[in-house]
Amino acid sequence: MENLVEKDLSYIWHPCSQMKDYETLPPIIIDHARGTRLYDIEGNEYIDIISSWWCNLLGHCNPKINERIKAQLDSLEHVIFANFSHRPAIELCEELMKIVPKGLQKFNFADNGSASVECALKMAFQFQAQTGHAERKGFMCLSEGYHGETVGALSVGSMDLYAKIYQPMLMEATHVEAPDCYRCPYGKTRENCSCECFEHMERAFSERAKETAAVIVEPLLQGSAGMRIYPPLYLKKLRQLCDETGVLLIVDEIATGFGRTGKMFACDHAGITPDIMCISKALTGGYMPMAITVTTQRIYDAFYADYSEGKAFMHSHTYSGNPLACSAALAVQQIMREEHILEKAQQMAVYLHEKMTERFAEHKNVGEIRHIGLINAMELVADKKTKSPLDSKRRTGYQIYKKALKEGLLLRPLGDVLYFNPPLNIDKETLDLAIEKCDCAMRAILD
Ligand SMILES: *Cc1c(COP(=O)(O)O)cnc(C)c1O
Repeated sequence: MENLVEKDLSYIWHPCSQMKDYETLPPIIIDHARGTRLYDIEGNEYIDIISSWWCNLLGHCNPKINERIKAQLDSLEHVIFANFSHRPAIELCEELMKIVPKGLQKFNFADNGSASVECALKMAFQFQAQTGHAERKGFMCLSEGYHGETVGALSVGSMDLYAKIYQPMLMEATHVEAPDCYRCPYGKTRENCSCECFEHMERAFSERAKETAAVIVEPLLQGSAGMRIYPPLYLKKLRQLCDETGVLLIVDEIATGFGRTGKMFACDHAGITPDIMCISKALTGGYMPMAITVTTQRIYDAFYADYSEGKAFMHSHTYSGNPLACSAALAVQQIMREEHILEKAQQMAVYLHEKMTERFAEHKNVGEIRHIGLINAMELVADKKTKSPLDSKRRTGYQIYKKALKEGLLLRPLGDVLYFNPPLNIDKETLDLAIEKCDCAMRAILD
């Protein structure tokens, strides 16, 4: 048999990887996939409980999505999106208008999440400059935030793991201490707090609002930080503070959008409308790279003028509005609606959290099982009372990951946080099986 692993390692530099680790964990070569299952070339089966990096929304090789892309392929694969347009993009915007927070109505297409964040930052900056606020140049963000890997997105991200080495080349931003509900410094819980931690944001605003173009946050769920979950009240307060000060609110729904948190968008839990919203990942069901920066009429209007005024948003990506990606996204919306995906996922979320609690809550190293929608994350700690972390040098999460792969489960923890973030149409049997496999891997490493 041709040695695909050897060839892979001789050519490919994999994302977010220390390639030396591949000496002991060679790349797993996937041959095909169906629903929640991945199958490698050796015939092993894996449950994809993390939705292939949070993007697969309705299962792999979903027949309805496949069909729609195939149909589109025979009429138009791609066309320049400046001055030109096509049915799939127009219909997609019409569909999205029905579900995005009220007031968002202009759609600017890009081809990945980071690019949509860059677009949002530039849009906010230019909006301020063109509405008499050239002094509003800065950005605020939350500590432990993550918005992608490009230089602008990294600048408003706060995770040392991804950003530290590049610090000298990043733009300055104000990093505000984020909510930390598991280790709440005020001794409150998500259920009984009044977001006392919002005082950090208030202080930052009182010092910096006048020189700030926008604040960017991951709504309710700081994914890369270890699925840190905070209450909707925080977003409500932030919306209000932005309204009072003229700072724009950018909400990065790239990970949270399309039902991941139990509502269509995380913003819906707080009933707020951001000035700019970034969506990607589940947008195409995890099929094609596409992202959209969605904004309001008010922001759009600040760029609308005679050409000679130089107010246009001179921002573009070659693959903007790709028709195949739009078709995938259209199929996703149709399935969501016709199959009542959101309602079913809400019910399944209750089931999953019950089962997770039953199985793992008493485990000596499980500090917290936090959950929102179908997302359930277990933070592993050395001591449940003190909440002291495990020794990071032991790479416990990574060891469990490797063991789980042997069991046929794709977990890919964030440090020592293990999480499930499955497709919304996953069934009970698969969840039960995933819990079983996860437990097995944990016992092998932790006991
Ligand atoms: C994944 C992600 C991004 C980056 O998207 P890419 O398509 O990987 O560039 C940005 N923000 C959040 C919250 C994400 O989860």
